[in-house]
Amino acid sequence: MSGHPMWIDTHCHLDAPEFATSLPTIIQAAAEKNVKAILLPAVKMADCAHIRELAHQYSQEIPGLVYTLGIHPLYTNQAQEGDIETLEKRIVESISDPRFVGVGEIGLDYFIEDLDPHKQEFFFNAQLDLAQKYQLPVILHVRRSQDAILKALRRRSIPSGIAHAFNGSFQQAEQFIELGFKLGFGGAATYERALQIRRLLKELPLDSMVTETDSPDIPPAWLRGEGIAFNEPAFLPRIAKELALVRGVSDAEFASAIWGNAMQVLPRWSALCAGIPQLLSLNLAS
Ligand SMILES: [Zn+2]
Repeated sequence: MSGHPMWIDTHCHLDAPEFATSLPTIIQAAAEKNVKAILLPAVKMADCAHIRELAHQYSQEIPGLVYTLGIHPLYTNQAQEGDIETLEKRIVESISDPRFVGVGEIGLDYFIEDLDPHKQEFFFNAQLDLAQKYQLPVILHVRRSQDAILKALRRRSIPSGIAHAFNGSFQQAEQFIELGFKLGFGGAATYERALQIRRLLKELPLDSMVTETDSPDIPPAWLRGEGIAFNEPAFLPRIAKELALVRGVSDAEFASAIWGNAMQVLPRWSALCAGIPQLLSLNLAS
């Protein structure tokens, strides 16, 4: 078993237009690489039905395929206040769906300049309130906004979640961990010059991190050389193996720890996987 660890991609936008014509191939490639669980975060309300459909449509190939529902900060410009009401309706409808695992992708992006910060904050806070109301974990987009997001989390009781594509300081990392969050690492850490991210990966507790591709974004270092245009979930094992190398642990130990970490902060994901026999023998064997 330990020679074939099972991999988990905790952040993957399979509904992106880049995959529109190639999705069955993309999914098949990930399945062949032993990527057994993928989380699809929604980015806007119009996508909710499609995201849920995808999670069910490809559950044979990827047994641990799940989704979250939310409004991404980059989509708040086009969002309407009524979208919060719609989101609450979708959450209530989805509670009975075992593949629905939380609220996301939500957050604040202070890097992109043409986004209205007040509008972003309105949607972020309103979505955090929903996560608190239904006691659901959240998938966070944190860009130049670590402290503002930590402050908003501290004012509420959100059970847990993932700070995706984490790129903050050690102190900020520790605060997220204290609030019950795991930190997402992926392609960015495969660049040798990404010194800060690689130092976090090396020095933070192993039980604080999860792996992700953020497909089709954040291409790992080697893609440029190979002339590949965008990231995909089949690249997760190679990314994770590079992260394990930076961390200084074996692939099997890394895979097993990461799987457990993701399940810990997303209890509905854990419950789904616990009911799937082929996921049970899992990394536990090592
Ligand atoms: Zn994302």
